[in-house]
Amino acid sequence: MEIEQTKIDILIVGAGPMGIATGIEAQKNNLSHLILEKGALVNSIYHFPKNMTFFSTSEKLEIGKVPFMSIHDKPTRDEALEYYRRVVEFWDLNLNYYEEVINIEKQEDGAYLVTSKKGTYLTQYVVIATGFYGNPNMLRIPGEDLDKVSHYYDNAHRFINQEVAVIGAGNSATQVALELHYKGAHVTMIVRDAAIGENVKYWIKPNIENRIKEGSIQAYFNAELTQIDEDTVTFTQDNEEITIDNDYVLALTGYQPDYEFLSQIGVVCDTSEKKIPDFKPESHQTNQEGIYIAGVVCGGLQTNTYSIENSMEHAKKIIQNILRQNS
Ligand SMILES: Cc1cc2nc3c(=O)[nH]c(=O)nc-3n(C[C@H](O)[C@H](O)[C@H](O)COP(=O)(O)OP(=O)(O)OC[C@H]3O[C@@H](n4cnc5c(N)ncnc54)[C@H](O)[C@@H]3O)c2cc1C
Repeated sequence: MEIEQTKIDILIVGAGPMGIATGIEAQKNNLSHLILEKGALVNSIYHFPKNMTFFSTSEKLEIGKVPFMSIHDKPTRDEALEYYRRVVEFWDLNLNYYEEVINIEKQEDGAYLVTSKKGTYLTQYVVIATGFYGNPNMLRIPGEDLDKVSHYYDNAHRFINQEVAVIGAGNSATQVALELHYKGAHVTMIVRDAAIGENVKYWIKPNIENRIKEGSIQAYFNAELTQIDEDTVTFTQDNEEITIDNDYVLALTGYQPDYEFLSQIGVVCDTSEKKIPDFKPESHQTNQEGIYIAGVVCGGLQTNTYSIENSMEHAKKIIQNILRQNS
C-alpha cells in the first residue's frame, strides 16, 4: 500500500542566513516549512577563515529581530556562528542538517517532489538559498589537484616560514595575504589584473598596497598562473614565463553558484557574462512557478551584488508573494 506523504508549505534549500530568514518569515505567517542543509548550520560561514571579522556591524547581520551582541562593532566568525545558532533555537525552525538536495521535480498537481540524499518530500513551494561558497572558480591548470593547493583559507599557522602563492587580489585574497605575511609566511601574490581589486575594502587596500610597495609581500600583476608542481609554481607575465619556489598555493579567485543544480531543476540564467538566474525582483519567483530564489545566489557570477546586509528583504518578498497566491 502506498503511504501518502504530508505536504509541506515551503521547503527551503540551504541554512545560510537567507534560508534561516525565509524559515522565520514562514514561521511568522503560519506556513509550515522545512530547511534542508547539506552541511552544518550556516555552513558557508562555518568554512570562512577562523580569524575573520565581518565587514558589517553586528546589527546589520541580525535576523528575526534577535539582537546580535558582539564585543567589538564588527563581529567575528565565531560570534556569528553562535548568533545564528541562537536565532534558529529562538524561532524553533524545522531544520535537517547534512542532507543535500539533489533534485526537485514538478508534480501534475503543481506541487514539487524534493529529493535529498536521505529522502523525499512533497512541498507546495521551494526556496533556493544555496549561496555560492561551496563552488570555487577553478584554475583548470596542471597541478591544481595537488594537496598543497587550496581554494579556502583556514588559518596561518601551517604556513609559517613557507613559500605561499596567493592567487587573486579581491577582498579574501588581500586579507589572507596580509594575515600570512604578519604571521611569518613568505607571500607572493599572482594577480591576473593590473592592480589590487577596486572593490577591496578601504581599510585593507592601502595596507596591502604599502606592503607590496615596500617589498615585504611580492606581487606579480598582469600575471597568469599556468602550472603548479610539488616545489614550484610557473606563471606568465608580459609573455615571459617565470618559475618560483613554492610550498603552498591559495587560489582565492572567487566562487560561483551551483549552475548544474539550477539547470537541473529548470531555473534558467541570463546569457550575459553575469549569468544571473531568472527571477522577478518583486517576488523572487524564478521562471519555474513555485520555485523562489533568495540570498547571494541571486547575483549570479557577480557575487558581490548581495550580502547578508542587503538581502534580508528577499525572505519577506517571497513569503508575501506566497501568501497572496494562497489567499
Ligand atoms: C569571507 C567573506 C566575508 C563576508 N562578510 C560579509 C559581511 O561582513 N557582511 C555581509 O553582509 N556579507 C558578508 N559576506 C557575504 C555573506 O557571507 C553571504 O552574503 C552570506 O553567507 C550569504 O548568505 P546566503 O544564505 O545567501 O548563502 P550561504 O550563507 O552561502 O548559505 C547557503 C547554504 O546552502 C547550503 N547548500 C548549498 N547547496 C545545497 C544543496 N544542494 N542542498 C542543501 N544545502 C545546500 C550551503 O551548505 C550553505 O549553508 C561575506 C562573504 C565572505 C565569503
